[in-house]
Amino acid sequence: MADKPVLWVIASGNPGKQREISQILKAMNLEVEGLARFAPVSFPEEGLDYRENAIAKAMAVASQIGEIAVADDSGIEVDALAGAPGPISARYGGEGLNDRERSAMLLAAVNDVPGAKRTARFVCYAALATPDGDTVVAYGECSGLILDAPRGDGGFGYDPIFQPNGYVQSMAQIDPALKDRISHRALAIRDLYVRWAGSVDS
Ligand code: IMP
Repeated sequence: MADKPVLWVIASGNPGKQREISQILKAMNLEVEGLARFAPVSFPEEGLDYRENAIAKAMAVASQIGEIAVADDSGIEVDALAGAPGPISARYGGEGLNDRERSAMLLAAVNDVPGAKRTARFVCYAALATPDGDTVVAYGECSGLILDAPRGDGGFGYDPIFQPNGYVQSMAQIDPALKDRISHRALAIRDLYVRWAGSVDS
């Protein structure tokens, strides 16, 4: 009889991330769940280091729920802004803004930057933690340009103002299944799976 798939719980309260991570993991031999059936968990304060943030989130959730937890810490880095907003992407412009307002702030900040200099990338650290405190970490990035105005209503966050290299659409206009093949999160999560599978096999 085949082994029962291992359970990975997605340690995120962000519905966009949760949806994407579960789609990306669909191809793997895993059982994947959100946090819904567990008692409420608390997440650690986030610092300025994606890698540490991702590990801290995964470890905190794994120890609270007693299952393998997978978290990501991600953001958008704009070269003309010296890499900002980076790890504070979720809070850019202050608390209380929505995704559309944050994107508008970012567009205003690069208003004078000409097309070819609007280079940027989405970056993602994905971390897995076991309840015993073992961790696996992986990284992914997706380069592109900041558009002049928002386009499309798919995805989440800064997707409408980001055009991935090699595509004429914004990240919010491309098929979600394509985003789940090329995105920073897709690359990080798939690499996380490979590293984890290698670690449990050896
Ligand atoms: P955190 O990882 O919870 O700190 O939040 C990451 C933030 O970066 C999100 O709230 C979004 O603003 C932005 N971000 C990360 N990944 C994406 C993406 O795939 N599309 C658009 N925005 C993203």
